[in-house]
Amino acid sequence: MPGADDGSTAGDSPGNGLEGDARELARLNERLRRLAADKAYLQLVNHLMTRLSNLPGLDNLIQGFLQCVSDTIGGTNVLLYYWIKGVLHRADVYGNRCEPEGIDDPGVDEAAINLQPLQIEHDIVSAKMRPSAMVGAWTWIYPLAVGEDLVGVLKIENLHMSSREMQAYLPNFFAFAAALLKNDIQGFWLLKEAYDELQATILSLAAAREAAEAASRAKNSFLANMSHELRTPLNAILGFSQLLAREPTLGAKQRANLQAIQHSGQHLLELINDILELSRIEAGQLQLKTETFSLAALVETVLEMVQGRAQAKGLQLACECLAELPAHVEGDCHHLRQVLINLLSNGIKYTIAGCVTLRVDWDGQHASFAVEDTGIGIPEAEREKVFTSFYQTDFASKQGEGVGLGLAISRDYVRLMGGELQVESRVGVGSRFAFRVPLLARDVAPAAGDCGIGEIVGLSEEQPNWRVLVVDDDADGRTWLSQLLQGAGFEVRVAAHGGDALVLCTTWRPHFIWMDVHMPVMNGIEACAQIRAIPGCESLPIVAVSATAHEDTQDQVLASGCCTDFLIKPMSAEDAFATMRKFLGVQYRYAPAAATPAVGAVAPSRDLEAGDLAQIPSQQLHKLLQAAKTLDADAAREALHAMSDAPADVAQILRQWVEDYRFDRITKLLSSSSR
Ligand code: ADP
Repeated sequence: MPGADDGSTAGDSPGNGLEGDARELARLNERLRRLAADKAYLQLVNHLMTRLSNLPGLDNLIQGFLQCVSDTIGGTNVLLYYWIKGVLHRADVYGNRCEPEGIDDPGVDEAAINLQPLQIEHDIVSAKMRPSAMVGAWTWIYPLAVGEDLVGVLKIENLHMSSREMQAYLPNFFAFAAALLKNDIQGFWLLKEAYDELQATILSLAAAREAAEAASRAKNSFLANMSHELRTPLNAILGFSQLLAREPTLGAKQRANLQAIQHSGQHLLELINDILELSRIEAGQLQLKTETFSLAALVETVLEMVQGRAQAKGLQLACECLAELPAHVEGDCHHLRQVLINLLSNGIKYTIAGCVTLRVDWDGQHASFAVEDTGIGIPEAEREKVFTSFYQTDFASKQGEGVGLGLAISRDYVRLMGGELQVESRVGVGSRFAFRVPLLARDVAPAAGDCGIGEIVGLSEEQPNWRVLVVDDDADGRTWLSQLLQGAGFEVRVAAHGGDALVLCTTWRPHFIWMDVHMPVMNGIEACAQIRAIPGCESLPIVAVSATAHEDTQDQVLASGCCTDFLIKPMSAEDAFATMRKFLGVQYRYAPAAATPAVGAVAPSRDLEAGDLAQIPSQQLHKLLQAAKTLDADAAREALHAMSDAPADVAQILRQWVEDYRFDRITKLLSSSSR
């Protein structure tokens, strides 16, 4: 112990006289000197301990420990062997670290086994100094242990004798360092385990995320490509059928067949749009499209759009406005229309008899909508599920209409607009889908929209000779559009690729260009850029069209800065005419517009009763019944054609039933009225 050998003992007594005094004085001086040295060493050890305790982290502790030893004890090379979870590590005072396979030093090995310090004189072999400098030098090896638990072994090479004076104080310091080291190694290990675990989790999450993103990218690009592949032929189907429908010589039968083609094409287009929309929602790409519009006009339009379907099923379609609507509102007209059409279509689809009612309310800041039907209803257990993508109730999937996407998309649209779509329903009684969305009342009129005033039959008389160039690599695509435009009185030329378009721009000087975006050799954007460089074509209206409905394509086209506008295929004849009116100021001649029903109660298509058939000869009714029983639509049409005595409204309803293949209704009616 420090101070234990200070020379004073209990029985020591000072001698007599001067000599005795001098001896006593010398003894006291020596004791004082030793006490002062003890104090200095104790202070040093205390300082070292404080220094070590303030070193955060295992690496810092080891480095600090070696540095303390080197600074205060001396030695030219200070090494520490230590174990972390059984793995041997070696660190030196210069900051070098390694993991040796085993202890490569017999002295260290011995100290580790015996847990006893070693002091070896002139350890010239392991020291890295010149032999002359080794004279009087020592190597010290200290096991660092906490009790019996060996934490590490310290080796100090080339230590000079003066340092031996510290020996008495070192055990305390080393015991303290061993305890700190043990503690930090444990902490380090726990931290390392947690860190490794975290790293593994981060890596697996990153891998999962990358896989999900790759799958999502692959899905989006697949959908975009598929949509393009499907829209290109659909463009031709819908385009040519619209063209045919404009033929005045068309017979009733052909017109009906054409309607069936258009109806199916439109249905297919809606499915493609729904699936694309779902992928947009999943990719978080849904965005509000705010514009100023008339709420009353919107309601009228959606009612008009579904009215035919309601009539064909003999359902009453009604609208109740519970408050005065503002002249115009600002909001997402596009998504609102989609939701209302979907809810009304569902109401009609899932109602066998009775009515479907749209209720609209306005409180100054919000519009509330409710679509009520007297249909089959939705069992309670399925009421939430119907909002899940691709979910259909048994009844719906047996009917084979739809794919179960409408409500999922509608709910997302309503949420996007700041509302929540709710459902109430009773099986066999009916359903009510309702939501409320914030809208801003506006005084200003909306921008002029579609033509909307009857079918365009041609250019008005005073119009110039408009030259229009249609550029499309798809032969069907360019043929229907050029025929449509020629039919209306435009002068049209076609080009199958960008190169031909450039030539025609210089030689023929079109007033307007329809430009397909995706074409081989030179795509539409490139062709547009080159056309812009032709003198006189700088402000020529060039409208890009693409069957790719992804907004990226649209952004890319508009960002190029050389196309005037962008339309998605299939585009309708109305879209084509409206676009040319917008950019050329073209004036059209219109067919007399059909009367548009006002918002309010819409006349229902009534069900027929036996009494309605009273004026029709039974022979003719019999023919119709036979045709209905054998599901022969042609024979049924023939039978109807022959019924010249039938009242017009009755004949109209029967014709609609035939077109809708509602032979069940015809059979039921005629069987009950057979005379
Ligand atoms: P879809 O009508 O194309 O099947 P939706 O997502 O619009 O898809 O509707 C999901 C399901 O919810 C439908 O299949 C139908 O079973 C049920 N459903 C929706 N609206 C009604 C309704 N008004 N009455 C009864 N069932 C409905």
